Amino acid sequence: MKVERNKVVTIVYTLRTNGEVVDQGELAYLHGHGQIIPGLEEALEGRHEGEAFAVSVPPEKGYGEPNPEGIQVVPKSAFPEGSEVAVGEQFYAQDPTGQPLPFVITAVEGDEVTIDFNHPLAGQVLDFEVEITAIRDASEEELAHGHAHGPEGLH
Ligand SMILES: [Zn+2]
Repeated sequence: MKVERNKVVTIVYTLRTNGEVVDQGELAYLHGHGQIIPGLEEALEGRHEGEAFAVSVPPEKGYGEPNPEGIQVVPKSAFPEGSEVAVGEQFYAQDPTGQPLPFVITAVEGDEVTIDFNHPLAGQVLDFEVEITAIRDASEEELAHGHAHGPEGLH
């Protein structure tokens, strides 16, 4: 069986940017449904169980380029009382539909706090090492939902 649309593919991966490991783990996903970044999904297409490979994914096929509009300056008073307003701290805002929007503090100068809504990996070349550990047909339910389910059929 090979990796193609509507297969559930399990991979073990290590992700590096600039030589530093930023993420690693195991992931089962439904192939061909945009569940993983496009550059990685393309690199997996047509491969077989047990195959291991490395791929460098450019930003345009990864998390995109940082959007300058994602960077804003807000007053310290915009944060809840008692919260730690410091560089590197992560908070959540809400979009108009109530979805959480993560952002990180990138600078604090007096009362001016610079925050960044861009994905931390935006603008980065993503160096993946991947091993395909399993490939199976998706269930009817998984196809209807557009994503893979866990071993017990849970989300
Ligand atoms: Zn589901």
